[in-house]
Parts: sequence; C-alpha cells; structure tokens
Amino acid sequence: MDFRTRAIHVGQDRDSASGAIVPPIHVASTFVQPDVSMTAEYDYARTASPTRRGFETTLASLDNGVKALAFASGMAATHCVTQLLSPGDRIVTGTDIYGGTWRLFNKLLPQHGISVAAVDTSDLAAVAAAMTPATKLVWIESPGNPLLSITDIAGCAGIAQAGGALLACDATLATPVLTRPLDLGADIVMHSATKYLGGHSDLLGGAIVVRDPALGTRLHWVQNATGAVMGPFESFLCSRGLKTVDLRVRAQSATALALAEWLAAHPRVARVFYPGLPSHPGHALAARQMEGGFGGILSFELAGHCDAARRVVESTRLFQLAVSLGAVESLIELPAVMSHGSYDPAARRAVGIADGLIRLSVGLESFDDLRDDLAAALNSAASLN
Ligand SMILES: *Cc1c(COP(=O)(O)O)cnc(C)c1O
Repeated sequence: MDFRTRAIHVGQDRDSASGAIVPPIHVASTFVQPDVSMTAEYDYARTASPTRRGFETTLASLDNGVKALAFASGMAATHCVTQLLSPGDRIVTGTDIYGGTWRLFNKLLPQHGISVAAVDTSDLAAVAAAMTPATKLVWIESPGNPLLSITDIAGCAGIAQAGGALLACDATLATPVLTRPLDLGADIVMHSATKYLGGHSDLLGGAIVVRDPALGTRLHWVQNATGAVMGPFESFLCSRGLKTVDLRVRAQSATALALAEWLAAHPRVARVFYPGLPSHPGHALAARQMEGGFGGILSFELAGHCDAARRVVESTRLFQLAVSLGAVESLIELPAVMSHGSYDPAARRAVGIADGLIRLSVGLESFDDLRDDLAAALNSAASLN
C-alpha cells in the first residue's frame, strides 16, 4: 500500500463490536485478565493501551519501522533515547538543533556523567572527527532548526555504525512524508508529534520509531519504567492528524518554497535559509534525501537594523507570533529570544543564530494572503532601517 493509504488504514481498524469506522478512544487504565499469568495483550495502560497502539502502528508503518513508541512530548521521547546511555558515554550532536534538545543535552545529561560534543553535522568530516570510543549516540536533526541545515543521514549512519554508536534522527521538520531516516540507515527516528503529526496546535506528544525489534524492546522497557507515555485522547488526535499529514506537508512545502523565493527577491531581506532554494548549501543533498518538498519551515534575516526584525514579527496579522511549528496556522517568531532562548547566548551566536533571525512556520493559508501579510510587515519595519 502507498503512504497515503497506510496513513488512513494501517492500525486504524473499524470497531468490531459496533462497526464504528473510527476506532473508539480507550480510556481504561487497566485491563481485566483471563487468569493470573498476565499474558493478555493489554494489562496496564502505561505499558500499552489500544488507542496509543493504533497511532504507534500507523506511524511505524509510515516511517518503515518495526516499532513506534508514543510519548507525552517530543522531549520525553528524546529523553527516553538518552536513557540508553551510561555515565562516561558521549553524544555527538549537531549545532543547529531544537533549543529544548540543546538544553537536555548540555544542561541535564552532564549531571549524569554523559558528555556532549556539538559539531556542524552538515559536515561529515566534522562528525567523523568528533567520534571517540565513548561515543554511543549520534543525534542529528535534518532539516536543522532554525537554520534549516541539511545533514547527510546515510553518511552519518555509516560513521555511527563504524564507531559502534547508534544514530538517532530528529525528523520533526521533515516528517515521514519528506524523509524516512530508517531507510537511510538511522537506528532511531524521533518526532515531536506536537508539530506536523498532530498538525493542528491542539496536542503535545512525541514518538520514536526503530527498525530493529531488539532496540524497540529496550526502548519500550525504558518507556514503561519511566512512564512519560502519550494519553488516549492525544493518541486519537495524532491518528487523525496522520490521515492528512501527506496532503498538509506537501501543500505547506509548496507555499514555503514560493514564500522563500519571494523573500529572497525582496529588497529588505538580506538572507533566506530554505533548503528548497538552489542558493542553500544543502540544496543538492536535500533534493536527494527529501521527496515531495523541502518542508514548511524557513527563516530569514533582514538587511539593516536588528530592531526591524522585532517590528516585523510583531506586526504580521496572519502569521501569529508564537513558538512551535507544523500546524495549519502560520506562525512567526524570533528564535534568539523565543524558540532558542534556552541556548546560552554565546553558544547561540557561535552557531550562527543571529539576534535578528526570523523563523516562519508556513501553515495552510493561501500563498497570496501570506505574502501580502509579510509584505505589509516588512513595509511597516522600513522606518527602522
Ligand atoms: C518541538 C520540537 C521538539 C520537542 O518536542 P515537544 O513536543 O515540544 O516536547 C524536538 N525537536 C524539534 C525539531 C521540535 O520542533
């Protein structure tokens, strides 16, 4: 079956008792056992529950994995992966990564004896050079956030494997629609389901998907031991989101590309970061590694005064001023003080996140309306230049 068909039918069987075409939301915390052996499919909802299992089954299929695990948030999913590590182990990670991941890796994990080396993962030689015998996990994000850097997933998989480390890829921005890291050799793919999988700014969730059943069993053990699972209602919303994720992400990618081209030609814009533009350093790799589009996120810098960026993000009307991304509503924000405010300022500047960088999450509104909104906001900031 094709991706779109699986998104609707795998893991989403109609209810056998009533014939309801949408499976019911199972709210039960415990499941009655036929005898004391506890061998029934479900026993207690932290371990597994039917509505969560439905979402996990669909997502595993879309990512071409064998097992998916759904969590209370994307960070809970990432944290679960880090629980595979022991004191003395080391993570090699990218510099262009989600702010919350940066905080977990740099502020929390060192307290538990885990060290982190951050390198520009779009440079495979830098990844290879950062590997040491203690490196047990390589954590990449492609496209990166907020600079939309592109990392060669297959290249990193080769490096991680040669070094005896696992490769995990945060594919939140790419979604299974545009990139399937497990097919490219990654061991673990992670998604913030809060973003495109849910897709409507109305839930918090995360997921990991693996292609090795034994790794899936280890991660499920950690998930069950620590307990940050996705609840039934969020699982239902994620299952519903997946049914349209292909349509949404393709449409959002097309609008994002059109906006990136329009911004790149705008006299007030100094620089646009979007992997769909031939000027982007990762464009050729993105064209090979992604299919169906380059994603709905882009960022840009203005020519001239830095305060103009603040003026722009505070004056759009359709693009609403908020962190997060991947939903039907378009959002605008300043990463330096908003989504990536959890970076140390020096680290943030060192990796190239300028104070005036503006990030857009392109929703499902029409291109014309979004362009007009940006045009008006860029005009209103003109007086500051
Ligand atoms: C939002 C996000 C996360 C964290 O997910 P939460 O659901 O907010 O915990 C991780 N990575 C990326 C790329 C994100 O955008």
